[in-house]
Amino acid sequence: MHILLLGSGGREHALAWKIAASPLVTRLWCAPGNAGIAREAECVVLDIADHAAVIAFCKNNAVDLVVVGPETPLAAGIVDDLAKAGIKAFGPSKQAAQLEGSKGFTKDLCREFNIPTGAYERFNTAADALAYVRAQGAPIVVKADGLAAGKGVVVAQTLAEAEAAIAMMFEGAFGAAGAEVVIEEYLAGREISFFALCDGETAIPLASAQDHKRVFDHDEGPNTGGMGAYSPTPFVTPEIHDQIMSRIILPTVAGMKKRGMPFRGVLYAGVMLTAQGPKLFEYNVRFGDPECQVLMLRMMSDIVPALLASCDGQLKNFNLRWYPDPALTVVMAAKGYPGDYKKGTRIDGLDDAAKIEGVEIFQAGTVAKDGAILANGGRVLNVCATGKTVTEAQSRVYRAVDCIRWSDGFCRRDIAWQAVAAERG
Ligand code: AMP
Repeated sequence: MHILLLGSGGREHALAWKIAASPLVTRLWCAPGNAGIAREAECVVLDIADHAAVIAFCKNNAVDLVVVGPETPLAAGIVDDLAKAGIKAFGPSKQAAQLEGSKGFTKDLCREFNIPTGAYERFNTAADALAYVRAQGAPIVVKADGLAAGKGVVVAQTLAEAEAAIAMMFEGAFGAAGAEVVIEEYLAGREISFFALCDGETAIPLASAQDHKRVFDHDEGPNTGGMGAYSPTPFVTPEIHDQIMSRIILPTVAGMKKRGMPFRGVLYAGVMLTAQGPKLFEYNVRFGDPECQVLMLRMMSDIVPALLASCDGQLKNFNLRWYPDPALTVVMAAKGYPGDYKKGTRIDGLDDAAKIEGVEIFQAGTVAKDGAILANGGRVLNVCATGKTVTEAQSRVYRAVDCIRWSDGFCRRDIAWQAVAAERG
């Protein structure tokens, strides 16, 4: 098979690593890719926002399957455009991608199909939104309706913070994405990520994970795209797993089918484990980054037949096998991230780090220059490991991190602290 992967982050490096391991694959390209992906795939210079250029590449290279990593091309309808050109693509249609592209869409779906989530209302004007938060009080959550690169959510602890968030969004801080605002009940509890592979009718659970969104240890500082993750999480017990499947994932797949926009691809549910049971607080329509990195390390089965079964509506009798050992990843980021940071600083010691037992390093924002690896983004490296326990995986990862010489980088030192504390008892 000829496969084209779209994207350039750590998620795509992990996907490339897993896809390249498939005996079904004869050629693998990645557009645009990065220095790490270049070890697994042929990187091609292609503007993935230019759907005609992607289609032309596929035709010229007899591509059998396109795998879309990030959400932006999905929301822009790349899967629809490829399908019209007769090219198979893994991921949801533009309409189905609204589950991530519009928070109001998802909340309305939850309301219609009784999927547990926080109470909410949708607003088009600041005045109405302000009146609502004043009536509800704080804490409360203010969300830009559309895609805002992970920055469109403000968890307001005070009324003043909520009012400021509303003003900022209606003043255009997120452009069109903030023209509508969703205001949602604050959900207290432990936050987990849950992934399912869907084919429009059937959903099969992948695995659970826990991400760490805040930039600093002890979950302090601003939110980021994710500073580390591990899988599986002990907080998703078999009972909670079944509740998430039966109350959240399966009704969503059924509801989307009923609405005439069947969901195919990876459904990534952000779930709060509340005192009243699991509640959905957001959907994403693709693998999480960095959760994908740990899922790929744990997946025993060949991923390619699973991607094809999702595209072809054949998941019904499909089975995926997983390694039981937990996997953990720590993100190394450029100092200053998620704010301003420098590019072009040199990273050494990656080969020594990768020699540690169980360790795999996926690259995100990197570029190769004159034989050296240079930082080229905010989140730069994913240092990953498996182990017999989360504690063992964590200690392997931090041993690897300590081999990496990058004066301009930093990472959290406490990824998976909750699971490690639970293992200690
Ligand atoms: P998002 O950008 O949608 O991933 O949201 C960012 C973060 O905001 C999430 O990871 C949660 O920690 C938090 N969040 C979102 N919605 C809620 C909610 N209703 N209650 C509490 N926290 C929330």
